[in-house]
Amino acid sequence: MSSVSIPPPKCLLKSLVVPYRHMFGPGPSNVPLRILEAGANPVIGHMHPEIFKIMSDIKSGIQYMFQTQNNMTLAVSGTGHSAMECAIFNAVEPGESVLTAVNGIWGERAAEMTERIGARVNTIVTPPGGFFTNAEIEQALSKHRPVLFFLAHGESSTGVLHPLEGIGQLCHKYNCLFLVDSVASCGGTPLYMDQLEIDILYTGSQKVLNAPPGTAPISFSERACQKILNRRTKPVSFFLDLNFFPSACRYHHTGPVTAFYSLRESLAVLVEEGLQNSWERHQEVAEYFHAGLESMGLKLFVKPKEARLPTVTTIVAPHGYDWKEITAYIMKTHNLEISGGLGPSVGLVLRVGLMGCNSSKANVDMVLAALKDALKHCHKSKV
Ligand code: PMP
Repeated sequence: MSSVSIPPPKCLLKSLVVPYRHMFGPGPSNVPLRILEAGANPVIGHMHPEIFKIMSDIKSGIQYMFQTQNNMTLAVSGTGHSAMECAIFNAVEPGESVLTAVNGIWGERAAEMTERIGARVNTIVTPPGGFFTNAEIEQALSKHRPVLFFLAHGESSTGVLHPLEGIGQLCHKYNCLFLVDSVASCGGTPLYMDQLEIDILYTGSQKVLNAPPGTAPISFSERACQKILNRRTKPVSFFLDLNFFPSACRYHHTGPVTAFYSLRESLAVLVEEGLQNSWERHQEVAEYFHAGLESMGLKLFVKPKEARLPTVTTIVAPHGYDWKEITAYIMKTHNLEISGGLGPSVGLVLRVGLMGCNSSKANVDMVLAALKDALKHCHKSKV
């Protein structure tokens, strides 16, 4: 009982070594020194007044980023998936009908989360690269009468930016909450939570915000709060139960304070640049990138220009090549991450994310040069 039988691992006696890499995949993005350094501040209690002030600053930053006045606005301790589950677990009760728009992996995952809590899942489905018209959405709303409709604004697996105009109003016509995933889009393209009548909106820290992964901004409209307040059953997750969050005086869980410091700093960077400037920069850089890809003879996966996500670009996987060889070559030779497809887009696309501080013409030139080099050196089949 008293002897230590597992020896100390020798690997832990060596120093931690993490290389620098150009993080130009769909996330995480590079984290600027300023944001990393903010996270190196001392750990203090998550219920100390200084932390409440930091949380309040974060709330203001999220309200600005989301363009919302919602009081129920906060950062979830966890990644984008926690925010997805926080939204679905709180807003939906077992047996209720939910509608999920599936045009990539995020709709699939939202449907799976909904199914796991015993709700009735209905989907509208389009092949990767596609999106839905308001008429299609209305038809499904009137058929399934869901309590919640899920839509990914930026489908990072396919590179589609979904139009949002009018959908919130449609949802409310059918007494349904409108839930939008903006993990890959928020901060990089126009998004107005209140004007679009979005009821629940979330994003992640590690994309446009350039903060480390691990916190997820989320906001709930008054309509969403009312539905949550009037639940008949408790949410399945204790950790993500929203009823605990507003109470500053009660211990619920130990907040990841250093991750909050970084998140606050990343929101400060966004505030300094200005939201519109950030949107415009991402759009300009994306168009420059897309033109460069087309001039190399590569094809963009999303055909309509207005449906192309400015933060994550999907390129049709070059004919005759093995996409895995291309991404591995670029990593090895250029120290640069780009990725293949995800879920339904695997094998169909290469994905390049230029988000937040990574969205610059100099980085576009770097990616284009790496792609040119890869197409010259990777094996091309003769068929
Ligand atoms: N939604 C979208 C659109 C995403 O791109 C991602 C991350 N790739 C997520 C949700 C999940 O976020 P996380 O990996 O931080 O859990």
